[in-house]
Amino acid sequence: MNAPHILALDQGTTSTRAILFDRAGRALHTAQQELTQHYPADGRVEHDAGEIARSAVKVCNEALAFAQQKSLTVAAAGITNQRETTVVWDKKTGAPIANAIVWQDRRTADVCDALRKRGLESEITARTGLLADPYFSATKIAWLLDHVSGARKRAAAGELLFGTTDCYLIWHLGGGKVHATDATNASRTSLFNIHTQQWDDALLEMFQVPRAMLPEVKNCADDYGSAALLPGAPAVCGVAGDQQAAAFGQACFTPGMVKSTYGTGCFALMNTGAAAVPSTRRLLTTVACRLGGAVTYALEGSVFNAGTAVQWLRDNLHLIKSAAASEAAARAADGDSGVVFVPAFTGLGAPHWDARARGGIFGLTRATTAGDIVRAALEAVCHQTRDLLSAMDDYGAPQSLRVDGGMAANNWLMQRLADIANLKVERPAVIETTALGAALLAGLHCGVYPDTEAITANHRVEKVFTPKMKESTRAALLQQWTDAVGRVRS
Ligand code: ADP
Repeated sequence: MNAPHILALDQGTTSTRAILFDRAGRALHTAQQELTQHYPADGRVEHDAGEIARSAVKVCNEALAFAQQKSLTVAAAGITNQRETTVVWDKKTGAPIANAIVWQDRRTADVCDALRKRGLESEITARTGLLADPYFSATKIAWLLDHVSGARKRAAAGELLFGTTDCYLIWHLGGGKVHATDATNASRTSLFNIHTQQWDDALLEMFQVPRAMLPEVKNCADDYGSAALLPGAPAVCGVAGDQQAAAFGQACFTPGMVKSTYGTGCFALMNTGAAAVPSTRRLLTTVACRLGGAVTYALEGSVFNAGTAVQWLRDNLHLIKSAAASEAAARAADGDSGVVFVPAFTGLGAPHWDARARGGIFGLTRATTAGDIVRAALEAVCHQTRDLLSAMDDYGAPQSLRVDGGMAANNWLMQRLADIANLKVERPAVIETTALGAALLAGLHCGVYPDTEAITANHRVEKVFTPKMKESTRAALLQQWTDAVGRVRS
């Protein structure tokens, strides 16, 4: 009895993890290493790509040692990663030319402002489904080429390679033989035309990035070579960016299905099938998955502050002892306090995209308690999700919402989400949906799963939250929220 197992490597913003999954999608072993965050200046966030590579080898070794100890066969490996984060390295030595520029980094805001002033944002959106924003890789690559001595010349001579962290790890683990990424990661660079599925010359020209640096773009379930650096050299055959991997791990395979991940921020993706649906409400149009050349698209909305509001109440105001304690505090609070909390600590994301907005707490009276404020912080997550879902109307109203991430463990929050969004909320049995998605993609390629139907059959819902709130209450809460958001706008 030794059914094949799959190794998932999840290279996240704060840590690198390796999880060993069995065919049923159960996580048997997790190894994790925190990642050093570098903040060299205001608005700048960097990672050491060398540390990323070493952490990946370490956690994979640990998970593979567990497999060996238990005599488990490892059929393949999948990789999922923090998206957009930009690594440029020397093709010969593999050495990064500088620290990786992380997705959160805002150093290229001026470049993006200039592109917008030149009226180029609509062209960028038409080709990539994205906006002119420092979030995406293109301006980060150009920044490295322009600020690391000699880099532009070396790139032109074909001596340098670019990749997001998936790509750097594929290259590194494979001993420098494969320079490839997948279509979901490519779709976040702002250099990839999501309609033609090719690197786009007009964008390469606009952002001043030489084509020779760019990786081959493969399907999400594809042959990425073997991870020669790891024991047993498992074949790497599943790759997707973290949010897309989570949607795959949630088995959101049918148009109209939506998943929302609640961690530091909140990311909602709606499957729109073979249609790349342009957004009239400033959501992103992105590649959800590409299998055998067939592209599935998604509408994506991101909120920058979800779990951060809970962290802030815990660490700055000391209103709760732990993130989990927010559940009991919210449950105990009075339902009609009228307190509204807009956690725009770093501005507002979709659908507002107001970088200069800042947070606010409204409706305070002498009777307001700590519990009211905690409750309002959780309620904000529900309202922000509802705003994203209503912006998805360009495609159609969703029937239900599949949730995951650290905050999804909060039962009060999930019930409130169902009430405020007026939608059935489904929490899966396997909460590690991001890593699971990478494992499933690899399993699909290596034959552990014959097709996506087999994956759907595997998907288990642990708990369903159904809306119970009166329409008049929902409408009143929505009005309070909309007023409060209006007041924090810049
Ligand atoms: P990330 O992957 O973005 O680091 P996680 O998915 O690990 O985040 O989720 C952690 C976030 O969720 C933290 O911001 C934490 O404050 C919040 N969180 C964790 N557990 C709970 C809970 N039970 N209730 C509310 N918030 C929670």
